[in-house]
Order: sequence, then C-alpha cells, then structure tokens
Amino acid sequence: MHTVLLGPPGAGKGTQAERLKVRLGLVHIAMGNLLREVVKKKTSLGEKARAFMEEGKLVPDSVILELLKNEIEFEKKGFILDGFPRNLSQARKLDELLDKEAEKLDLVINLEVKEAVLIERLKGRLICSECGRVYHKSNIDGPSKTCKDCGAPLLQRNDDNSDIIKKRIEVYLEHTHPLIDYYRKKGILRNVQGEGTSEEVFQRIMEKAVSYKL
Ligand code: AMP
Repeated sequence: MHTVLLGPPGAGKGTQAERLKVRLGLVHIAMGNLLREVVKKKTSLGEKARAFMEEGKLVPDSVILELLKNEIEFEKKGFILDGFPRNLSQARKLDELLDKEAEKLDLVINLEVKEAVLIERLKGRLICSECGRVYHKSNIDGPSKTCKDCGAPLLQRNDDNSDIIKKRIEVYLEHTHPLIDYYRKKGILRNVQGEGTSEEVFQRIMEKAVSYKL
C-alpha cells in the first residue's frame, strides 16, 4: 500500500505518518527529516539543500530525487510519504517510479488546517533532538525542556520562526496546493479535517483508510 500525506507546514503530517506507520506496519519516509540529516552531516547533498531550507524555499528536485532514490522501498507492505511530493514535477516523477515497478499510489490523505492554527502550532513547536517526538510549548509542564520518551533536549527548528513560517506557507500555496487537484482527478484524494487532538485526527484518517479497503 502506497500512501501520501499532503498538507501545509504544521498540518500534522509527520505526527500522523508515525501513527499510521505503527497501525498499518508501513515504512514512513519523511523528506524533511532526510534533508535535515544530510544537512547535519554536511554531505554534498546537504550542502546543496541547506540555504533553500533556511529560507523556507523548496530544495531543487535534483537533490530531492537523489535522496528519495535511496529510500523508496517497493516492498509488499508499502510506504507513507510525508513531505514528498511538494510540486507537480515531483508528483509526476513519483508516478513514473511506481509505474516502473508495476505499482501505483493507493491513497492521498490531505490534512486541512486553517492558517491561523498552522502558525500557532509552528511557532510553539519543539522537537526532541534525539527521537524527533513533537511537542508544543503550551503543553510542557515546568521548566524542563527534555523529551518524555528519551530525556534528550527539545529544540526549536531553525525554520519555525515567524518570517520563515510565512514564506513556507506561501511556497506551499504556490507549489504544493495544486497537487490537491492533481490527486482529486486521479480519484485517490481524501480530505481530512486536521484540527483537534492528534488522536481525533488519527481516527478520521483511519475512517478514510478503512473505507478505502486498505
Ligand atoms: P518539512 O520538515 O517537511 O517541513 O520540510 C522542511 C524543509 O525541507 C522545507 O521547507 C523545504 O525547504 C525542504 N523540503 C522538504 N521536502 C521537500 C520536497 N519534497 N521538495 C523540496 N523541498 C523540500
């Protein structure tokens, strides 16, 4: 089963993809995480991606496809893609890659969240520096900014600041939003209301997944 989670920055793609991975036993491929890893390691792909990410722009497709090539697994159990595709040419490339393996995309979940909620979520987001668990400043008790699971420090992403958040939402609207139409025309798009608790959103996604006979 091959799934894409679509939605603007802060829609909860990463959080929900992790939950789906556990429930459905799929591989989770998070393009943003792959990019942050190569930037941290200062590989040549990382060096090519860094400035674009810092400015909230899309990293060139050549870098993205190079990273994806090593990650996409065409196993029977399938994958959940989060943060890819982010423009039409990436979506077409994904179709091509799946086609070559006689596979297809089964389901695209589009998480819908109002802009004011996205901004609020992103401004307050803290991420565990070790395991990647996501927190919000408003849900942290006391002064300790460490992860409940692994005890590592919680950090704010460099691109989670007001100016860059604004830019990322603009980039989403210009380049990624058109994918909604692309997948609707293919008949595989399911819109899911992405506001509320993580559990509520997950239940809505599962309803769509079940009705899709997964
Ligand atoms: P994310 O963690 O998904 O919010 O992604 C963080 C940043 O990585 C984005 O703002 C982009 O700069 C870059 N990025 C992630 N995925 C892609 C993609 N599919 N194409 C181009 N750039 C991407």
